[in-house]
Amino acid sequence: MTFSVADDRIVRLAFVAAVSIAAAAVFATLSLKAPEYFFRTQPAALQGGAETLYYIRDGRGVPGYDPSDPELARLALDAWSRESGGKLKFTPARSESEALLRLHWISANQGRFGEMQRIDVDGKPGAIVFVSPATDGLSAALADMASRDRLLRDAIVYLTCVHEIGHAVGLPHTRDFEDIMYSFGYGGDITAYFMRYRKRLKSRDDIRLFSGLSPNDVTALRMLFLN
Ligand SMILES: [Zn+2]
Repeated sequence: MTFSVADDRIVRLAFVAAVSIAAAAVFATLSLKAPEYFFRTQPAALQGGAETLYYIRDGRGVPGYDPSDPELARLALDAWSRESGGKLKFTPARSESEALLRLHWISANQGRFGEMQRIDVDGKPGAIVFVSPATDGLSAALADMASRDRLLRDAIVYLTCVHEIGHAVGLPHTRDFEDIMYSFGYGGDITAYFMRYRKRLKSRDDIRLFSGLSPNDVTALRMLFLN
């Protein structure tokens, strides 16, 4: 539900209406698909310094997927690790079944470009991050720009990975347009949001230089480790 333009607000309102009645029962089941920005359990990624095993699925056949997209996902993991001061550590798993953090490439659906789902992995809280590698479902103007600008397209996929992994490590949405955890449910210019990052890049390699996190994101991240 990340970069959903229209759906987040509806989801949020629906959640507020239902939360007092349903929360305890609904969130009792870790494997349940829940709104991406609510957390009941400390994510495994934060459980005390151990390296979190991750697995990135092959996205062949998914619309918009490029074989180099897993590298963007790994760069997003690196960004969170770096910004956490090394407290988050991600190690590739040998198989998906042992990975606490899993990334699946999906078709964009109803304006949704990313989503996070909590899962239980042998009693430990994990997460599946869903990311669409297609940009043609974005606003028409942005989709047109991305179709002609490979770096912009890569920036969008990268930032979507960063945002969803942010949920996986325990961060909720913010209302601040500067933040990677910002939700477009609060409005804001989606093209300006992605172009702000794109303008910093001279080449794809530059993605590793700019995490995409704001100072507020970094503060929120580091607060997680104080709990
Ligand atoms: Zn989100």
